[in-house]
Amino acid sequence: MTTHLTEAALAASNGHLDQIDYSAGAAARAGETLTRLGARSPIAILSDGVAKPVDDGDLLAKVVASIEASGFATEIVTPLIDDHGLVLDERTVQDSADRLAAAGGVVSVGSGTITDLGKAATAEGVPLVAVQSAASVNGYADAMSVLINAGAKSTRPTRWPSAILIESDALERSPDTLVGSGVGDAVAIGSSIADWVLASHLTGAEADPAVLTDLMDAVGRLHDGREADGAMPALVDALTYGGLSIGVVGSTAPLSGCEHLTSHILDMAAIAEGTEHDLHGRQVGVATVLSTALWEIALERDLVRIDAGTTYPEDTLDRVDTTWRVVDPSGRLSETCQANVAQKIAVWQETAATRPTIDAELIDRLRGLLAAPQYVSRTLSQWGAPLTFSDLTPAISEERAKWVLSALPFMRNRVTLADLLVMNGAWDDELIDAVFARAAAAGGGA
Ligand SMILES: [Zn+2]
Repeated sequence: MTTHLTEAALAASNGHLDQIDYSAGAAARAGETLTRLGARSPIAILSDGVAKPVDDGDLLAKVVASIEASGFATEIVTPLIDDHGLVLDERTVQDSADRLAAAGGVVSVGSGTITDLGKAATAEGVPLVAVQSAASVNGYADAMSVLINAGAKSTRPTRWPSAILIESDALERSPDTLVGSGVGDAVAIGSSIADWVLASHLTGAEADPAVLTDLMDAVGRLHDGREADGAMPALVDALTYGGLSIGVVGSTAPLSGCEHLTSHILDMAAIAEGTEHDLHGRQVGVATVLSTALWEIALERDLVRIDAGTTYPEDTLDRVDTTWRVVDPSGRLSETCQANVAQKIAVWQETAATRPTIDAELIDRLRGLLAAPQYVSRTLSQWGAPLTFSDLTPAISEERAKWVLSALPFMRNRVTLADLLVMNGAWDDELIDAVFARAAAAGGGA
């Protein structure tokens, strides 16, 4: 299976990522991997300082011993970590980049955030080995990092890791919260692929879901839960193929639709208010029950349609402003989001003349790509992942959960189903209540 992942990685990354080793003892091969990659001393080891147990001790100690045994000098680099934990804002990324600048090789040891930091803060051309300690997110095997810029969260192009070492023992022992996060991120394709195909169709871009076949197969294997045979390898496959698909397509769009925007909105609201938020994938899983319910209702009500003159209502930017002032009265987030939304409105208007209609064939294709909310919630519950906003840590109130969904089309420059619903005059409280009721019937929602 690892051979298969490595082949897929080579193709997806144009040779930048040439090794994915998922095995017991993968971390102990950090030293030989750096030698093969032509790294030189000192090797900077990026770590968040949280203990990661493996059968014979701690993962970080194992990595350091392996690198030193290959003759390299090592230096542990701990990024800036404040009360909110490790937050990849401008200051944190720059601080790490400065401290990694003299290294002849970088090894990140940890889960999604530390891996994203390694990719954002390590110069192109310097060997970068990601030692993956949890199957918590699909963002390892790609050349993107989730970063915070001016308070807004978005996925930015960074660089590929040169190699990924996935320590299977560390994965088996990783906390349930991280495993639940990985499953939540994986089930996102239950709605994200449909959003991608719809947006591509409407903006004249190519979208061929055939490139996602391995990914869809792996996510399907998650349905029987954590106790099933081959459960953890299926999760590693689902997340790794997810990352690689982003590389193949050159965009996060196939894996990031309404459900991801919902999770990003939760993060942005928490950051604006100075409160905590849950892990990316745990939020995405909850949001996927909701977004598949949204799709189901939109199709039932025949709202997935456009006419010649279909466009954003005049008051769209005002609605963006009203929405974001709820969590940030200073107007800073409103300004950022208005700029994003203005961008997609401009693109929509520029492409109006050549826009194809939505025909029955496209609707059939979309139906075929969507998961039912019940299917998503069953997978989540079989892995012990949260299903509802109140299951998240900290728990999200029903009022806040509904605000989050209402903010969906008013945040980024990416077109999703929600944009079409705004244009069709359907994006209102009645619809949002109906979506929550549908999600609740499947075990999810508020
Ligand atoms: Zn994600």
